[in-house]
Amino acid sequence: MERTLSIIKPDGVSRGLVGEVIKRFEQNGIRIVAMKMLQMSKQQAQGFYAVHRDRPFFDSLTDFMSSGPIVAMVLEAEGVIGKNRTLMGATDYKEAAEGTIRRDFATDIEKNIVHGSDSPETAEFEINYFFNKFEFIN
Ligand code: UDP
Ligand code: MG
Repeated sequence: MERTLSIIKPDGVSRGLVGEVIKRFEQNGIRIVAMKMLQMSKQQAQGFYAVHRDRPFFDSLTDFMSSGPIVAMVLEAEGVIGKNRTLMGATDYKEAAEGTIRRDFATDIEKNIVHGSDSPETAEFEINYFFNKFEFIN
C-alpha cells in the first residue's frame, strides 16, 4: 500500500474547495490516513519547496503557500502517488486533462489548488515534513 502527501493550497481553501477535493479522493478509492489544517510560515514554505529554490517562481510560490491556511493530508491506496497526480492534472491548468482538479478549478499556473508528491522519495520527505507517527489512522 502506497502513501502520498496532498495539500489543498491557500486558493483551494479560501475558495471553498476543500470538500470538492476530498470528495474526489473518496470517490476514487483513496483513503485519508492523516489530515490537518495549518498556515505555513514563509520559512516553512521555503523548506517544503527547497527543490525549487533556484527556480524563478520560488519567491512568489513560497509567498503564496504561506499566505493562508492549507489542508495537508496523507493519502493511501495502491499506486496513490500516480493516482493523485492523475486526479490533480498537469501543473499548468491550461494543459491539464478535462475533469481534473486543476483543469476544473485552477486560475493560474501558480494558484493551482492542489499539491501532490511526485515520487516515493518526495512522498516520504513531504509526509514527514507535516506529520509524525502518532498522527496516522491505522
Ligand atoms: N509553479 C509556478 N510556475 C511554474 C511552475 C510551477 O508558479 O512555472 C508553482 C505551481 O504552484 C506548482 C509549484 O510551483 O504547483 C511546484 O511546481 P512543480 O513543477 O513541482 O509542479 P507540481 O508538482 O505541483 O505539478
Ligand atoms: Mg512538484
